[in-house]
Amino acid sequence: MGRLLEGMRRRKGLSLQEAARETGVSVHQLANLENGQHELPTDLNYVRLLLQVYADYLDLNDVGFPRWEKDLIGSHDTGSPGIVEARGVHKSYKAEEYTVHALKDVSLSVKKCSLVAIMGPSGCGKTTLLNILSGLDEIDGGEIFIAGEPLHAMDDARRTEYRARHMGFVFQGFNLMPVLSAVENVELPLLVSGARPGTARRRALEVLERVGLGDRAYHRPNQLSGGQQQRVAIARALAGDPAIVWADEPTGNLDSDTSKEVLDLLLQLNRENEQTFVVVTHDPTVGELMDRIVRMEDGRIVGHGRPGNL
Ligand code: ADP
Ligand code: MG
Repeated sequence: MGRLLEGMRRRKGLSLQEAARETGVSVHQLANLENGQHELPTDLNYVRLLLQVYADYLDLNDVGFPRWEKDLIGSHDTGSPGIVEARGVHKSYKAEEYTVHALKDVSLSVKKCSLVAIMGPSGCGKTTLLNILSGLDEIDGGEIFIAGEPLHAMDDARRTEYRARHMGFVFQGFNLMPVLSAVENVELPLLVSGARPGTARRRALEVLERVGLGDRAYHRPNQLSGGQQQRVAIARALAGDPAIVWADEPTGNLDSDTSKEVLDLLLQLNRENEQTFVVVTHDPTVGELMDRIVRMEDGRIVGHGRPGNL
């Protein structure tokens, strides 16, 4: 990232001092950005702002921007072993007359760039775990750090913004908008998070191409097979180049051949993009393909390890 910034600045024939004057960002901070030294403020929002300002100034379009940010995120978590760190998490749901303890003292660490399956019988808390790790839902107790950032301490607005920036989601039911074409579904979250329409469209087409649906971009969901719809959903999850992709039973609605196809795609993307994938599944064949399986029972993690060792 730093080299790219420095290269662009030099191509523009500018000294650091001139760039600093133009952007209003200090020489010291620009030098740090270029050197890839992260003696930058620990506030990720502020670093993001600096990067954005400098990248805009150097005419680097925003398509490549999230990837640098992912590098930055990586540098933030050097002190902690995993991109996802959950400690002593509790979550209960209060129904009218009783309380369901869906997660009981759950601790979990997920390494950056790994593929993790969360497995266990129906009702054991898999979806709840995914929802709280991704900040979709709040926890009652414990701590969750994503890339060193305390998710549990963020308010709802900040968590929402953080999710949009760093996380992608794939659900069992695909959750595509029926009235929108594939490319419109994929570009929607980009537009919501402020990308320019032209940029969003280019990026959406690029990602659809990557999941093998370049020739289906203008089809509506009901003109696509289940497997194709799930690939659109995967493209949508990947469009913002998130550091983490959460998938809840992504093959649950697919036949076994199509499941295999979708899984192969996830594995390939994981290798190519250095993204972390956390996949909830009760399908043992899915689990077998992952780097690691986390096994749950009745709201607790009861084991984890490599497939085959569980
Ligand atoms: P899984 O995904 O492993 O099937 P869930 O995480 O969906 O399990 O559910 C775990 C437990 O929490 C279940 O007993 C379920 O009934 C309960 N539960 C989940 N969501 C809610 C909710 N919104 N309100 C009340 N109980 C819930
Ligand atoms: Mg579930």
